[in-house]
Amino acid sequence: MLEESARRGPQVHDPSTWKCGEHCIVKNVFEGANVSKELNLSTGTGWTLDKATICAQNKPQHVGIYAGDDESYTTFKTVFDQVIRRYHGVDVNTNRAVPEDYKPKSPPQLPPEGARAIKSTRIRTARNLKGFPFTNNMTKEQRLEVEAILLKVFNGFTDKRLKGRYYSMASMSKEEKEDLINKHFLYTDDDSTLEMVGTYDDWPAGRGIFINDRRDEFGIFIVWVGEEDQMRIMAMNKGSDCIAIWNLFYAGVEAVHAGLRKQGHDYAFLESHGYLATCPTNLGTGMRASVHVSLPGFATKQEVKDYVSTTDMAIDIRGTHGESKSTDGSRVYDVSNNE
Ligand code: ADP
Ligand code: MG
Repeated sequence: MLEESARRGPQVHDPSTWKCGEHCIVKNVFEGANVSKELNLSTGTGWTLDKATICAQNKPQHVGIYAGDDESYTTFKTVFDQVIRRYHGVDVNTNRAVPEDYKPKSPPQLPPEGARAIKSTRIRTARNLKGFPFTNNMTKEQRLEVEAILLKVFNGFTDKRLKGRYYSMASMSKEEKEDLINKHFLYTDDDSTLEMVGTYDDWPAGRGIFINDRRDEFGIFIVWVGEEDQMRIMAMNKGSDCIAIWNLFYAGVEAVHAGLRKQGHDYAFLESHGYLATCPTNLGTGMRASVHVSLPGFATKQEVKDYVSTTDMAIDIRGTHGESKSTDGSRVYDVSNNE
């Protein structure tokens, strides 16, 4: 874990010294807009633009900025509004986000000819609790408090598809942990960008994973507690039955929401921004729908990315072990919406 002093770059006022690269969105925003007033501000929980841009200051980045709490998006409005405009093409001054109504939706099913190449499908969203700072900016006590609130939510599930067990990272055995990682269920603490911005502070306090019991019948339903966002809610399964996975996913997001409301809590949401997330790329619905798909004609992830850049497809290509990992040479890739 990095010491506090090692995380603080002295160069926040001079983006020309940043190591993020010329295409980094936040660097371009800093260079194009007058952000001097916001450089001296701090949110109620102590988040600053220095902390928010620490990764852009020190390593290659595409976006390069993280919020530390819901207030970040308003306190540092000049910077975040521009980042959001450049990344999402959305003007938050006129945007009107609609909260989830949890009414039945009908996502398109994947075409059968493509579906044969699909190994597995996953839909996830990012959520945080109103009134708490984000994972990169919490005290240990707040981490434990959020975990306790969520544990009550999980214990209150009545839907037979969702009922299951919460595994706390602090008390999990090494074997249990490895097994859950190999099944693509559990997250890890080895993304150097997340580490630098503070996501892994106090690890493993307040971290864990909820998994439903009746996975063979209904599909896999998971909630990550204490990763990049306080909650990553997801459903996944082998194959490509998007509709079944969507239905399980959406029921889960609703059930978590209902359980939070019962305790007087809510998801962090702004009408101008949608559901709030640590990384501005996840603002809005917070959803990423991905398939692990076999593409034997492409030897590397970069080859797939190069091909995609010649088309108008708004998709992201990752390896199958998560965003921050290298690919394993299997020629199976993670294809998803560009969040
Ligand atoms: P996210 O940030 O959307 O949660 P990551 O790229 O960090 O995604 O990956 C998190 C984990 O989810 C990894 O272990 C990855 O293998 C798994 N995963 C993502 N998409 C799928 C999928 N379609 N099928 C199986 N596992 C998946
Ligand atoms: Mg991730």
